[in-house]
Amino acid sequence: MQLCALRLLGRNVFQHELRQCSTTPSSATRTPDIPDYNTPVDTASHKLTRPTKLPKKRPTWDGLTDLAKRTKGSLIPSTLQEFSETMKVLKDDERKKLLKEERKKRQRTLDQLNITDFLDYFMEQKHKHTIKDEDMPIKKKSIEIIQANIGLYCNQACSHCHVESSPRRKEMMSKEVARKILDIMASSPSVHTLDITGGAPELCPEFRYLVEGGRALGKDVIDRCNLTSLLEPGQEDTARFLSDNGVHIVASLPCYSAKNVNTQRGQGVFDRSIQALLILNSLGYASQESQLKLDLIYNPLGGFVPPPQAPLEEKYRQEMRDLFSIEFNQLFTMTNMPIKRFNDFLHRRGELQGYMELLIRNYNINTMSELMCYNLLNVCWDGQIYDCDFNQQLELQLQGKDDQKHNKGMTVFELSCTDDLIGGDIAMDNHCFGCTAGMGSS
Ligand code: SF4
Ligand code: SF4
Repeated sequence: MQLCALRLLGRNVFQHELRQCSTTPSSATRTPDIPDYNTPVDTASHKLTRPTKLPKKRPTWDGLTDLAKRTKGSLIPSTLQEFSETMKVLKDDERKKLLKEERKKRQRTLDQLNITDFLDYFMEQKHKHTIKDEDMPIKKKSIEIIQANIGLYCNQACSHCHVESSPRRKEMMSKEVARKILDIMASSPSVHTLDITGGAPELCPEFRYLVEGGRALGKDVIDRCNLTSLLEPGQEDTARFLSDNGVHIVASLPCYSAKNVNTQRGQGVFDRSIQALLILNSLGYASQESQLKLDLIYNPLGGFVPPPQAPLEEKYRQEMRDLFSIEFNQLFTMTNMPIKRFNDFLHRRGELQGYMELLIRNYNINTMSELMCYNLLNVCWDGQIYDCDFNQQLELQLQGKDDQKHNKGMTVFELSCTDDLIGGDIAMDNHCFGCTAGMGSS
């Protein structure tokens, strides 16, 4: 028993005690010369002090060592399995039919909900803040960014995805549309950036053609990367291709915790995201010496607005550095749009009405002058053009100027220079509350 206790105290103490015992056999009868052997015999006076609070244990992640090995192979089988399980829950035919009808209406205008109309609300707010109409017109300005949704195919099937991508989607941009985008960019000097998104854009056939074409025109090229696509079999050289072409990567990472990322984006996504970020850092992304930019995007796990961007960026930077030695340039926060899969998610949880009310309560008129739809043109994989990605998902056609309304929408093939769009009305509806809540959405 005593031996065990001494063992607990450590080897040196044990040896010291042992020496005392063996060299002074009669010491058992005397008070040993031990500094803390002074507990008073008046046991009634003994008091327990409050335990000192131990410093909070930092979240740890013990998978870094085997990460490269563990993230080999495709994510698609596990995405499909999880996706099928979710779909099974919704399999009931009647429900499915209902869901289809409901979704169509709900996602188009959100007007089944008992909420104020976006444009009426905007007018009220303008009046309240004594802003003149001409000081805040909802009209297209000079286009600076062309955003191309080049396909809906994705190796993930995230629960909040506003384009409903998955490995089952096959829609992809053709070479003709991709070529026409480059032609428009070449004849539109105001356009400085080609923003390529999807699905997982790197997995679409025209991705590299667009990247190289955009760079050859001297434009900035952004890749909206889900990170895991860089580890798919056949994509082994994609990260290098991106760095060689100086592509700016904007990557989704909704948390620095594995649990939250995997809940929103699928099992195994966190490990692969970390591995992809390590590879990008090793190629010079986000290093002080290089021009290669790597930004991260945070979006909330559920129906709440994102935290303020600046302190969240600080927290992310600290956690990413401490836990994984990963660097990035900036963090942007994005509000989840109440459309498509996130709309379904909220609807199933009975939270859609509450979420819309939350967005309205947090309406910020100052965001109205910063909306991306003023200076961005969105191109769908099939060549249709829209004010933004969200309008594309709701099939809200580009309005055009008063004298040439495009009631049936417009394709890239009807456009030669983006200046032709300046002054056109922007199609806004109730989903726009998602862009105007809090500090706005990136
Ligand atoms: S959110 Fe992005 S990564 Fe997730 S399914 Fe949609 S396109 Fe793919
Ligand atoms: S959703 Fe509405 S506010 Fe947001 S970018 Fe599109 S049109 Fe503009």
